[in-house]
This record gives sequence, C-alpha cells and structure tokens, in this order.
Amino acid sequence: MRRYGEWRRTLGISDASLSSRLRALTDAGLLATRPYREGGRSRHEYRLTDSGRDTWALLAAIWLWERAWVPREVPLPDPVHTGCGAVSDLLVTCGHCDRPVRLDDLDLDPAARVPIVGPPGARLHPRRTRAALPADPLSVFPGAMEIIGDRWGAAVLSAAVVGIRTFSGFERGLGVSPDVLADRLRRFRALGVLDRDAEGYLLTARGRATFPILTCLADWGRRWMTADGRPAAYPGVHRACGRLFGPRLRCAECREELGFGTVLPADLVPGGARKHVDSG
Ligand SMILES: [Zn+2]
Ligand SMILES: [Zn+2]
Repeated sequence: MRRYGEWRRTLGISDASLSSRLRALTDAGLLATRPYREGGRSRHEYRLTDSGRDTWALLAAIWLWERAWVPREVPLPDPVHTGCGAVSDLLVTCGHCDRPVRLDDLDLDPAARVPIVGPPGARLHPRRTRAALPADPLSVFPGAMEIIGDRWGAAVLSAAVVGIRTFSGFERGLGVSPDVLADRLRRFRALGVLDRDAEGYLLTARGRATFPILTCLADWGRRWMTADGRPAAYPGVHRACGRLFGPRLRCAECREELGFGTVLPADLVPGGARKHVDSG
C-alpha cells in the first residue's frame, strides 16, 4: 500500500491515528512522500525508504513468533516462502560462518551490562505503566507489542536474554526506575515469556523463542540508528566461529536466503502454498 485511502479502507483506522502514524514513519525516515496527480489534483503517496524496506526481517520474525507462541482466536496466516512455495519458518544463521544459530549458541556476557537491545537514552520519557494486553481485534501482534512496543520492554527482555536475573540486576544494568521495571516484569510473566525460580527471573521457552525478534531488531538498529555514535547493543559472540554475531535469515525448508518480499501470507501467494509443513 502506498496511498492514504488504501490504509484507511483496509485497516479501518481513524484519520487521526493514520495521519499521526504516517507522519511518525515519515519523520523517522521509514517512509518518504512522492507526489502524484489524481483527478487534476496534486496529492502524495508514501514509499518505503531503504531503512523502511529493511524492517521486513523484523516484521517477519514478529509474525512467526506471534503465530507460534501467542494463542489467539483467529490464527495468523501461514508464512509461505515464495522461492520454494513451502509453508516455512525462519532459520537464523550466522552472518559470518552461516551455521544455524539459537540463543544458546551465543556467548553473552551479563557483566558487559549491554543487552542485545540497549536501554533507551535519557531523553526519552517512557510510559510508566501500560494498559492491559489489547483485546482490539485490529491489534495484529499483541504479544510482540508487549515486547517491543516500548523501548523499556525490549531492554528488559534483552537484559534477561544476556542472563540478568535479579530485580537489582535489571535496575543497575538498565538504569530503569523500580516502578517501570516492576511493571514490565509483571507483564512479561503474564505473557509467559519470563518465569521465576529461587534465584530470580528466567526466560521461558516462549521467551527464548523471541531470539529472532530481538536479533533482527538489534541488527536493524545497528544498520540504521547509529546517529548518536554510541553502540546501541552488544550482539554476543557466535561461539562456533568466534565472531560478533549478526543474523542471516534462511528458509527453514529449502535453506535459500530470504529477502524483502520473499515471505508472504499464504493468501497473497498466487496458487497458494505448495505443501504444508508444521513449523510449530
Ligand atoms: Zn558464526
Ligand atoms: Zn524455501
């Protein structure tokens, strides 16, 4: 979609919401406006910029995690790899040695206190507490919005990924206020991404499965959000090859490298899916 009316009709979103989102995405450099003429009037449409197109991997990671791990009444559509036609899943491999990588394959140093996704800068004003999980059917990815819908959520989860386990550890490592931290920890337990044992907080299987989301988010940030000059994130070292980790995404079925527009909802693929694979 490129034109205001297309989003307006398809999403059923209010004018106020749509205008403010398009403005925010344009200000952030993810969309750029282009003039066109219609019915003798000059209007403008919105095109993805390079950084906007580059969010495809993050969006795909969100979609597939949400589909696999967040219960919902109407399931999200099956992801089809257009290259091989299979209903597939993302395979994260190492950008250097190309071996498949899971969270456990990285050396992450909690003493470095720099999570995969860094804490927000001081100039930001995080919401102190947040409303309940949206029941709004238009909220496409309610679980993922808990995780990356605000920067403190992403920072707290990333800190858990690097092995921080205690309340005071999160507080010191992130410079987060106790009430914001308590709110995010409570919500992550309610969502089932964090649990508690005698030594503190730890990631559940659902939490560990957010690895593609976090690593795609961090990778995008490294490419496009370097303006303030400070390293936003420590990606971890891939133990097998000893290099700083950067993700590459491949089709889990045919192993082809994925790119923009190569993973589509089944109903948008001409002829549908070639075969059905349980990627659970
Ligand atoms: Zn490697
Ligand atoms: Zn494939």
